[in-house]
Amino acid sequence: MLNNHITVPAKGNRRIKLTIYPGHFATSHAHVDNYISMTELRTSSNMASETAEELAKVFKYIQVDTIICLEYTQNIGAMLAKELTGGRRDVNSGNDIHVITPAINSNNQLTFTSDTQPFVTDRNVLILLSTISTGRSLSRAQECVGYYGGRLVGIGAIFSAIEESDGVPVHCLFKPEDLGSYNSYHSNECPYCASGRKLDGFITTGGYNEL
Ligand SMILES: [Zn+2]
Repeated sequence: MLNNHITVPAKGNRRIKLTIYPGHFATSHAHVDNYISMTELRTSSNMASETAEELAKVFKYIQVDTIICLEYTQNIGAMLAKELTGGRRDVNSGNDIHVITPAINSNNQLTFTSDTQPFVTDRNVLILLSTISTGRSLSRAQECVGYYGGRLVGIGAIFSAIEESDGVPVHCLFKPEDLGSYNSYHSNECPYCASGRKLDGFITTGGYNEL
């Protein structure tokens, strides 16, 4: 397992921390010099709950029927639903928010089963993601919500490099400037590979796999 790491607290709530491991990693399309781990935020009940609380500060003013959780954000999504409906005089107080996860087909499109489609069609939908870098996956998710006739009312993320997508603002806990230097290279232009340094591991949406 990786040893060296730094932790970066969220600006609004220092109990929420990202762990960053410097090294030489491959993703599906690039080589990078840092692994930004979302694992604690997504799996620790304390941290997911703190994260949901932070996101709720913005989303509590919007009527939400459904939270679509992508990239292993289901824990945060469930706690966010609780946070939004649990208040006394908030927009969503006493409502029942559905928390769903679509399947992703071979064209990278989100697909909803027949019994979850009614939670999207004509509903106020919030999309939750771990990481938004270029915004390409997010745009695709937005298109799919539109295809199913959902109204996208909010986008939440742990980390985002973009401020909005197709007119919908992105609310996130960490921005690029919070994380220090992070470099991404085409695998054939990677300086670590050029100097003969071996890869430490592969980064996927779900986490990190040591080599
Ligand atoms: Zn490399």
